[in-house]
This record gives sequence, C-alpha cells and structure tokens, in this order.
Amino acid sequence: MEAQPTPEAWEEFREALRSTVTPVTWQTWLEPLEPHRTPDGSVRLVAPSQFHLRWVREKHLSNIETAASATLGSPTVMLDAREGRDDDHVEELAPEDHEPEPSPPSAPASDPVDLVKKYQFENFVVGPSNRFAHAAAMAVAEKPGNRYNPLFIYGSAGLGKTHLLHAAGHHTHDLHPDRAVRYVTSEQFLSEFIDGIRRKNTDAFKQRYRSIDLLLLDDVQFFQGKEQILEEFFHTFNHLYEAGKQVVISSDRHPKLLDTLEARLRSRFEWGLLTDVQPPDVETRLAILRLNAEFAPQPVPAPVLDFIAQHVSDNIRELEGALTRVTAYASLTAQPIDLGMAMDVLQDLIPEKVSRAVTIREIIQATSESFDLDISELTGPSRRQPLARARQIAMYLCRDLTDLSLPKIGREFGGRDHTTVIHALERVKSLMQSDQDIFDRVNALSHTLRKT
Ligand code: ADP
Ligand code: MG
Repeated sequence: MEAQPTPEAWEEFREALRSTVTPVTWQTWLEPLEPHRTPDGSVRLVAPSQFHLRWVREKHLSNIETAASATLGSPTVMLDAREGRDDDHVEELAPEDHEPEPSPPSAPASDPVDLVKKYQFENFVVGPSNRFAHAAAMAVAEKPGNRYNPLFIYGSAGLGKTHLLHAAGHHTHDLHPDRAVRYVTSEQFLSEFIDGIRRKNTDAFKQRYRSIDLLLLDDVQFFQGKEQILEEFFHTFNHLYEAGKQVVISSDRHPKLLDTLEARLRSRFEWGLLTDVQPPDVETRLAILRLNAEFAPQPVPAPVLDFIAQHVSDNIRELEGALTRVTAYASLTAQPIDLGMAMDVLQDLIPEKVSRAVTIREIIQATSESFDLDISELTGPSRRQPLARARQIAMYLCRDLTDLSLPKIGREFGGRDHTTVIHALERVKSLMQSDQDIFDRVNALSHTLRKT
C-alpha cells in the first residue's frame, strides 16, 4: 500500500507534468484533472467528462506516468471521469505499463460526446437536394453494417455532409446504446496515426479503430496523395467491413475524382452506397431558414425569409449567417424585422459574396489589427479578455467567410479542439444579439474582408 502523497508532492507532480506539454494542452487537458485519494492511499485523477478522459488516456498517459513515478514515488494512478458510470471506466496504471489496454470489441460505448448536439436528424430539413443522402444516413443509423456499407456521401462545402454524419451517429447511439460510435475527421485520423507512430504505439491506434461499430469519417478527400495513411485506412476499412461494422464516409467530391486515391480503395468505396448532396432548391432553403428562425429572438416575417432564400443560394452555412445578421441587427436596434431593413443589412453581402475568397490569414490579420493585438496572441494560448473574445470573433468570421472545417479552424488558432470552435461560434452569435460593439465589430470586419 502506498503512503498518501503530501501537498508538496502533488505540486511537484503537477509541475513535472506541466513541463512536458504546451501551455494550451496543459490548460485544456491536464490542469482540469482533479486529484483524489482513494481509501487505500492510491491516487486518482478525475476528468470532467468521458470524452476528456478518453483524450487524456490516448494522448497523455505516458506523461502522467512519467511525472507520477518521478515525483510521487511510483504510486498506482487511476484515471476516471466525473460522470463515469462504473468500474470498467477506471483504468489502473502502473508506471511500467506503456499503453492503455485496448477496449475489447464488445465494450459498452461511452456517450458519443464528440458529436455536435445540434446536428441531429430532427434539425435536418429534407428536400430533393438531399433526400437520398438523408434516407441512406437514416438507414445505416438504424441498421449499422447491414446493407449500405460503406455509405459514401459527397458534395461541396456547406451542404450538410457533416450534419448528416453526426446525425447518423446520434441516431445509432439512441437506438443502439451499446454500439461504439466514432466520428472523426480525416485530419484527426491522420494525426492520431502519426501520433501512434511517433510513440511507437500504432497497435493502440489500430485497436481503437478496429473496435468501432460505426465509424464516421469526414472529408476523406484530405487523404489524397498521402500514401501511408491511405494504406492504414484501407486496412482499418477492410477490418471493419469484414467484421460487419458500418463505415460512413464524406468527401467534397465523387470517389472517381479523388485523383490519387488508390484504385483498390476507390473500388471499395463503390461497393457500398454512393450518394450526393446538392445545393438546396429555393423551397428547401426557405424551410431551413424557417427552422432557424424558430430560434431567433423575435419573429422573422415571411418576406424576409423569402428574400434571403432567393439571394443566398449555394451554401447553407451562408444562409444561416445571413439570417443571424438580420435578427442581430433588429434586436440591437430594438426594431421589428422588416424587408427594408433586411435588404439594408444584407446589401453589402449579397452582390459580393461570390466575388472574393477570403483567407484565414486575412481574417487573423484584420481581427488582430482591429483589436490591436499581435497575430501570435490571437493564435496563442492565453485566455484572458479581451483577447479571448477577439479570438472567438476571428473564429466566427472564419466560419462565416470561408469553407474551412471546424477542426481546421481550431488548428489555425493554436491547435484548439473543434468543440472550442463551436463554443466560440455560439458565443459570438449570441453576443451579436445583445452587444452593439460586438455586432459593429463583426460587421465592419466582415465588410472590410469581403471588399479587400
Ligand atoms: P458540409 O459538411 O457539407 O460542409 P455542414 O454539415 O457543415 O456542411 O452544414 C453547414 C451548415 O448548414 C450547418 O450548420 C448545418 O447544420 C446546416 N445544414 C446543412 N444542411 C442542412 C439541412 N438540410 N437542414 C438544416 N440545416 C442544414
Ligand atoms: Mg463538413
């Protein structure tokens, strides 16, 4: 039995651990772990959620072990999550262990917390442009691994592919809580794989992916030309496929146009069900706007929704952005929304929106100038205000003005997680409704960036 660590030993342990990681990682992942002591004197670190726990286990286990054995005299360290339900979520770590036990294929799935709550089937408007993709996603969610395997959904940015992947994940989880669901972007898949290689721990990576029942892989075009990861994915895919597990893949183009994708992988994709999402027609755009308008702080008259549906056409994300601008302006100026106002508010956006592609560099540059900050601060670890707010605004602009994915935006801002980006977007959206300064700032920046 181990002696209880003293407070000083704890402090040393924390410092040792902190010195092994970047400040962002420290703040995001390790600092929130709460130390607890168990009756038998061993040490337990409690993460705020299952997702957090999983992440820490996957990424920082060896750091924790090393720091613990250096400062706490090799006690037994347990990792647990606050909402942990039972003991099979608790893992014993002896410092000699080099990797976590891979979970057996039949392990109960933890909540699919890496899914975005908002992206559910009930919030997805079905129209001719996406009816088939929607039905297919629904069918695989109901009977994963049954008929349409893999399901491959392709189409250009902002047409709802990510939304459908998440919705399938939620639905499977609701119907089959025992199935392991994993949503991952192709970038994440690659970086976890590279991480495994770096830590000479690719078995853990393989195990992790091969024990999934429903794998949702977003933006597979990212794998193009990356041979090693294609090879790895090919094996992962075959393994899941042969075990009757479901794979859902999204891409911004048809598999035939994934140029450097190996023929054998391309033909695997074509074994399953191939479906596209198209730009929505005007009725579908209108229905999406109506759905969004239900959450607006005040009623949005039908002619305003019509106007937006008529003028913003190629991308659903832009539709949502246009509506937010109108409702935000109205609540700030305490006016009811009417068509004249909507036309005023949107006038700079509509004729120009196709004219120019804004880059993330320009957004970061313009935002840091506007707040009188250095670029390195905006993309750095500090969370003090008003810096953190400026960063959230820049993230919002990235989402509004570019096609970049959430994880990509997160990475550009100092390696932040996609959930941090979602939080930033929601925060700015709600602040725009209540804070005149933020509203003006966002509009001025957006205006300048589009015109530059
Ligand atoms: P993609 O992954 O194809 O680029 P997303 O899934 O990120 O597109 O969709 C962009 C935005 O549009 C998201 O906020 C999403 O919720 C919304 N959206 C897309 N399609 C629909 C739809 N059919 N109904 C409601 N919202 C939608
Ligand atoms: Mg997407």
